[in-house]
Amino acid sequence: MKKYLIILLLTITFAILFALGIYIYQNNTANIKQNENVKLANYENQTNTIEFIATSTGEVKITPNATVIYQTKYTQCGHIIENKSTVEEDMVNLNENELKEKYNEYQIKKFDDKEIILYKEEKGLCKEHYVLRNYNGYIAIYNLEANGKENLVEVTSIVTNYLPEIDIERLDIGIRVNGKQELNATLEDYE
Ligand SMILES: [Zn+2]
Repeated sequence: MKKYLIILLLTITFAILFALGIYIYQNNTANIKQNENVKLANYENQTNTIEFIATSTGEVKITPNATVIYQTKYTQCGHIIENKSTVEEDMVNLNENELKEKYNEYQIKKFDDKEIILYKEEKGLCKEHYVLRNYNGYIAIYNLEANGKENLVEVTSIVTNYLPEIDIERLDIGIRVNGKQELNATLEDYE
């Protein structure tokens, strides 16, 4: 009889410990999530304040450590091409107004001590429009210009002979793809 009692007690103790463990674990993960939310909220507050200071007083000056992002929107396709760069020598120590005067072909979209975004629009297509064609039995990549002209960029090592009839027909018409990601994905499909 005593044996049964001990086993029963042990089982109950284990069950309590197990439940306690689950409770503590759940509490911990909830806390971590809350912390993350707080961090995010703090970050948003920070960026807001920086932007506010920058635009209201114009006292922020460009440091050599900032990042400059050049954005060009091509009006024919609507794509925005971004180039990240370091600060040009002639930008250092300029405030927002001085930068506006010097780089007057751009709009200043963001101006703070860490990041400057310069934006402009250009006519035509961006350089990320491609056409895939059959070139002597291989898939070739052409770059498409706004006027419809195609410039050969690269002949790949992908052989077209063994492709299904429908793909060969599509290549004869020319397969248009936008952006490097789509280009790579399409090529992978044919490899
Ligand atoms: Zn484009």
